[in-house]
Amino acid sequence: MELMEKLAILGEAARYDASCASSGSTRQGKKGSLGSTVACGVCHSWSADGRCVSLLKILLSNACIYNCAYCANRCGSNVPRATFTPDEVAKLTTEFYRRNYIEGLFLSSGVVKSPDYTMELMIEALTLLRGSYGFNGYVHVKVIPGASQELIQKLGLLADRVSVNIELPTSQSLMLLAPDKKRDAILTPMGEIQKLKEANQEERRLFKSAPLFAPSGQSTQMIVGATPDSDAQILRLSSSLYEKYQMKRVYFSAYVPVGRHPTLPPPDVQAPLLREHRLYQADWLMRFYKFKVEEIVEQGENLDEDLDPKASWALRHLSFFPVEVNQADLALLLRVPGIGPISAKRIVAARRTRQLEHSDLKRLGVVLKRANFFITCKGRYAGAVPLGSPFLRAHLVDRTGPSPQYTLPDFATPAALPAFIEG
Ligand code: SF4
Repeated sequence: MELMEKLAILGEAARYDASCASSGSTRQGKKGSLGSTVACGVCHSWSADGRCVSLLKILLSNACIYNCAYCANRCGSNVPRATFTPDEVAKLTTEFYRRNYIEGLFLSSGVVKSPDYTMELMIEALTLLRGSYGFNGYVHVKVIPGASQELIQKLGLLADRVSVNIELPTSQSLMLLAPDKKRDAILTPMGEIQKLKEANQEERRLFKSAPLFAPSGQSTQMIVGATPDSDAQILRLSSSLYEKYQMKRVYFSAYVPVGRHPTLPPPDVQAPLLREHRLYQADWLMRFYKFKVEEIVEQGENLDEDLDPKASWALRHLSFFPVEVNQADLALLLRVPGIGPISAKRIVAARRTRQLEHSDLKRLGVVLKRANFFITCKGRYAGAVPLGSPFLRAHLVDRTGPSPQYTLPDFATPAALPAFIEG
């Protein structure tokens, strides 16, 4: 099969994986090698559905032996199959990089023959990429659940970020839809990655030249909407993954109906993109606003789709408001809809020298159309309706989520393939 054909198949096959953001590494460029991960070295570009498209995002193979019901690449589905050779992965990445199409590589794979066999192919690809092709840029690679610890270690020494997809929020859902995947085969590698990372940090304290193990840490992905699992279940699991395995990110991927199973949503159901968006907002509240998961889901099992979770919390706790911006501490400022971590810090810094005027707030980054309902500035309230008004909710409703269109990065479409492949 031509390389161009493989790329079209394996670029398409990778589109459903959301977990490919590329932050966290700070490796400088070095003489004789290609690429770096510093500052703007990896540019972030997002497709309309929120997927990062700055990486070459491919599967090594979609010839999977597993039969996860929610997956387009399951062995029972009728899609064209392809497998890259390790050298093809390395060559594609460097050629795309040289042409400025991408800043790095996101490599995943279906299970070819066995988890260990697949991992060996991936390790070979990355060894070639880093060694023979001298690629020093960002690489995010998926660990295949069930792979041995030795192979996980090898892979982590070649990649910037590693991830194991948790896939579904509960063991029951996993058993029902992905019977080949056991919860333990997913959680055990996460624990191993965490231990290897800690051991690596210790080693580097003693020996500065020790190679880095997955310097950008690990992440995971959960599919949303393929099963009846609630937002509360998803967020509680996310919270415990952050805590237990020091996850850098938990990604949510709105289920796009591709599978046929009595418990899966029918094929004509839209991917729940607004729900995915609300889960990301809740995730930010946990990571950057010091919200506890129970505060976010205290109103019920599912998030209110009409309101962002912070506005929803504020409406349930009106007794905390209005907050006087000239006096409130950082933690309280962070609870105000329309004030984020940056604007909260700016407010605290600016008021050290003088009392803030309402006209200062926009310049400090406050989104006044939301914040005005929950603050006073020098005792003055500027909300369009009083805080306790029954119309307040209507002013905060926001159903603009991401666009429902799923788009492939241009470089994954045959029409945009570069001349070197055709030649
Ligand atoms: S292991 Fe499951 S989710 Fe992964 S490619 Fe195979 S069928 Fe799809």
